[in-house]
Amino acid sequence: MFDLLIIGAGPAGISAAYEAQVGGLTYLVIEKGLIANTVYNYPVGLTVFSTPDELEFNEGDLEPAREKPTREELLSYYVKFVLDNDLNVHTEEAVLAVEQTNDHEFKVTTDKRVYEAENVLFAMGAMDYPRKLNVKGEDLPKVYDHFRETYPWVKKKALIVGGGNSAGEAALFLASEGAETTLAIFRNDWEETDPKQGCIKYWVKDPLEEQLKKRCLNLFFLGKVIEIREDDVVLEDEDGNRQVLENDVVFVLIGSDADLSMLKGLGVKTEEGKYGEVPVYDGETFETNVPGIYVAGHFTNHRHIKAAIEVPKSLISRMAEKSKKTGRAG
Ligand SMILES: Cc1cc2nc3c(=O)[nH]c(=O)nc-3n(C[C@H](O)[C@H](O)[C@H](O)COP(=O)(O)OP(=O)(O)OC[C@H]3O[C@@H](n4cnc5c(N)ncnc54)[C@H](O)[C@@H]3O)c2cc1C
Repeated sequence: MFDLLIIGAGPAGISAAYEAQVGGLTYLVIEKGLIANTVYNYPVGLTVFSTPDELEFNEGDLEPAREKPTREELLSYYVKFVLDNDLNVHTEEAVLAVEQTNDHEFKVTTDKRVYEAENVLFAMGAMDYPRKLNVKGEDLPKVYDHFRETYPWVKKKALIVGGGNSAGEAALFLASEGAETTLAIFRNDWEETDPKQGCIKYWVKDPLEEQLKKRCLNLFFLGKVIEIREDDVVLEDEDGNRQVLENDVVFVLIGSDADLSMLKGLGVKTEEGKYGEVPVYDGETFETNVPGIYVAGHFTNHRHIKAAIEVPKSLISRMAEKSKKTGRAG
């Protein structure tokens, strides 16, 4: 029986594991992909938008060559942190079900075995269900729901659909490295400048505007995507006019949602948050309405890495304190 079982080895899960180790709790992290899998899936060579103080576990630990780290520097930092601290992480093992067997007793079933824990922290991010356009042709092999790298698409006709930073970054990579790039975006999303609205950040938008001036990028103010076909796409503009664009590859980058089914199965309540459905939890303890079930990270209302790292610090120290007093973390 572990004191704590953590689902997911992203920044939130790694932070929780470290705090659990320091606090003397017995714990295990189960990660279905690799350590920091979401960061691993960032575009190759991306410079992230946060500064080190928003990404590191201990002050001054992350030392990128420039002001902000690249994907590679950040990934290496997270992997090394797990290894150097000898954190108890199982990778490439997926949690399939969590059941409550008693008060503060949970059975956690993975694709490899069954574990028992007094508390379970869901730190599973929000990348499970990439949002779909739900249009004809979206299942063609040339359609991707995430952008990995530019070079396969040099001299190809690429369409990016989306209005947030991921879409902006993909468009910038493609346009500046020689793909014939079209960004299909709602006018509001292009014109939005409030960083809190999840819009394209200015340090991505400014160079995108440069690419527009150089005619390396086309902007299409979208009404809707009508159809994706082998050799072209049919788009409708904001005035309802249809256009057919020749096309080799489509990136649909319109966000993704967490899989809340395990939480709901346990009886955890959910509500509509700013970015979609979120679990209901205590704003201080991050415990849900099911005692012993905690949440942290990207699928809560705190979506950035800084909060994903900070929240487990207080959450776990409270749990460790309780364990010292009562002999039970639950
Ligand atoms: C391209 C890109 C750039 C970004 N840049 C920044 C930035 O500069 N600054 C910033 O603050 N944020 C940035 N973000 C957002 C940032 O990645 C997230 O806020 C962060 O990853 C959240 O950490 P997390 O630990 O909550 O979730 P995640 O990092 O998503 O980790 C969750 C983990 O849980 C695992 N998991 C899920 N389900 C299961 C299961 N059933 N069993 C086992 N494991 C499971 C997943 O594989 C994943 O590894 C960026 C996102 C993208 C896509």
